[in-house]
Amino acid sequence: MRFYFKSTLVLTILIVLTPAFAQLSPTRSESIVVFAPHPDDEVIGCAGIIMQALGRGAHIKVVDITSGDGFDAAAAGVTHKKVDEVGPDDFFKLSRLRQSQSRNALEILGGKADDLIVLGYPDGDLGNLYDSTDDKVIRQQFTKKNATYALIQKDYHTSVHGEPVLYRRSSVLGDLVELLTRLQPTEIYVTDETDGHVDHRAAFWFVRDAARQVGYRGAVYTYLVHGLPAWPFPPGVTPNRPFESRKVDGEVAPRGLPWPPPRRVPLTPEQAQRKLKSIQAHNIPVVGMPDHQKEMESFVKSEEVFWTPLAASK
Ligand SMILES: [Zn+2]
Repeated sequence: MRFYFKSTLVLTILIVLTPAFAQLSPTRSESIVVFAPHPDDEVIGCAGIIMQALGRGAHIKVVDITSGDGFDAAAAGVTHKKVDEVGPDDFFKLSRLRQSQSRNALEILGGKADDLIVLGYPDGDLGNLYDSTDDKVIRQQFTKKNATYALIQKDYHTSVHGEPVLYRRSSVLGDLVELLTRLQPTEIYVTDETDGHVDHRAAFWFVRDAARQVGYRGAVYTYLVHGLPAWPFPPGVTPNRPFESRKVDGEVAPRGLPWPPPRRVPLTPEQAQRKLKSIQAHNIPVVGMPDHQKEMESFVKSEEVFWTPLAASK
């Protein structure tokens, strides 16, 4: 009798709660990978996507392709030196800081340290690596490094293979192909190939090529950071306003992309505030660029916007 009562009670609770659980639980196989050329791009473009996915219980990985070790004005700002005085150790300091900022920002969005993967390729050289026709080894001009590394955790290649891999075109592609195979994402986010920063364009080309190589069939969404001729609009932190297209010097911004964008993801006011906090976690003093932080914070809007450049070719 007692047992019967207990079972009935449990059954009743289960029946009552099931619809609620069903709503909260993620699609079982939902796995999202956000690729960032530099530590900070992931929150500028996708903080909302990341926090919403984590809120649904989806699997998420943020992949920093470079260590953020090629920004001389930031290395100078962090070490209180002049831009022409910074050397490899100063770039390592910057790199360590930016990686830890990516981790902190991810935790602000509800993620875990384990969700951050650092490939450790050279900041500023992704375009050179992609364009390399003879697969030559590239040495980064600032750090003098010629192989992958990370400073707050092991770089991806070392963590999986026990040693770093040389900076070659085939190494980047190899790591990305392996990652996509291991993570089996259902959605990929990466910077758009119309971006004004060559690392951002090359990140797209590398991820696109890796996705084709593994026969990836999921969605690929791109986000825009250094949109041309100017981006984003309206300027400033405007959590109650959507992104807008504007004419700048007679040209429609953002250049080379359809407007309205094919995907707009609304953010609640609370989510926009958390996005702002995650961007503020990436604050670094940059010599000669007093507005650097403000420009990053301008990506706090009532939504995030994405394009689907590969959809047409499918
Ligand atoms: Zn970037």
